[in-house]
Amino acid sequence: MNERVNVASHAAPAPLRAPLPIPYGMLAELTHRCPLMCPYCSNPVELDRRNAELDTATWLRVFEEAAKLGVLQVHLSGGEPTARRDLEEMIRHCVKVGLYTNLITAGVGVTPERLQAISDAGIDHVQLSFQGATPEVTDHVSNFKGAHERKLAVAREVRRLGLPLTINSVVHRANIHQIPDFLELALSLGARRIEIAHAQYYGWALRNRGALMPTREQVFKALDVVEEARVRLKGVLTIDAVVPDYYAKYPKACMNGWGRQSLNVTPSGKVLPCHAAEMIPSLDFWNVREHSLAEIWQASPAFNAFRGTDWMPDLCRSCERKEIDWGGCRCQAMAIAGDAAATDPACHKSPLHAHLLALAEADAAADVAEYDYRRFSTPDRAQ
Ligand code: SF4
Ligand code: SF4
Repeated sequence: MNERVNVASHAAPAPLRAPLPIPYGMLAELTHRCPLMCPYCSNPVELDRRNAELDTATWLRVFEEAAKLGVLQVHLSGGEPTARRDLEEMIRHCVKVGLYTNLITAGVGVTPERLQAISDAGIDHVQLSFQGATPEVTDHVSNFKGAHERKLAVAREVRRLGLPLTINSVVHRANIHQIPDFLELALSLGARRIEIAHAQYYGWALRNRGALMPTREQVFKALDVVEEARVRLKGVLTIDAVVPDYYAKYPKACMNGWGRQSLNVTPSGKVLPCHAAEMIPSLDFWNVREHSLAEIWQASPAFNAFRGTDWMPDLCRSCERKEIDWGGCRCQAMAIAGDAAATDPACHKSPLHAHLLALAEADAAADVAEYDYRRFSTPDRAQ
């Protein structure tokens, strides 16, 4: 629970700081190990190795601290979270401390027996990624032959166990035309929700921007398809869409505001305000090995760097949307402006907006054929 500013009853009232918000969601990246190699993976380019991962006892403490801090939902993610043999123990502990558990899996290498054990441990919800709506696209994008068929089998098993299922699909030039097929796939598998997220260009996706970036026409057509489907499938399939902001007028409200609603724990225990924040070199991330989650949420320099509106450049601070989009994305400002405290170049008011648009159009036209697949920088025998 967040501590409020203490004011002794006999003292003159001190000016009250705005109370800190309570985070309701925590992304727990249990490992960076993953059998797939998606070229847009949201993990950092420098992946944490197995021998750097937090041990079971530390994760259990972190879950307990998260619940005490006010977190309601924990997203068990990676890499591939089922690569952790202690996943079931973690799920049981989350259930015990009152957290809603969501497993985010690529589904490759997950046997029916493992799914049964995960279900028995008390998992509340499963999100399963599909890199394409057809085997050719899934297998090519993930660089894993047979991945699509394995995912189909996992989806059926999840539903057989009676668990709610969400399909995750990251869209880009190679599969943006498949959005209607992704919707059909989700319906055929008995999912009640699908997330259609346009690739976000940080980390691996930034490296692969020339091979991933769709054209403006493709993006606007995709938006129309999603809007039409939302109306048609109302009450049947919930469609959550993460819009591509390179071609947008306003930026997305990244994380719904830095340090406002959620936190992200990396496999080695660093706590980040957003999963891509490690690309901002000036930030100092505190680690759960040395600090409690509450200390980190309240006092760590990284969480306070861009919290609220005081840090904003004049352009944002004087803008009526400053508490709607919170100045956009700090990581995108870093990637394009070289300054994490700049207005997000995705905003049409940014002096760099035209530059961003030109980059997107040049990448879409470049039509690079080969992916630089996500991988550990050097082969790791411990993987
Ligand atoms: S995006 Fe792909 S490579 Fe990255 S963790 Fe998910 S499945 Fe693995
Ligand atoms: S100027 Fe800043 S606050 Fe205003 S819309 Fe653009 S990014 Fe958002």
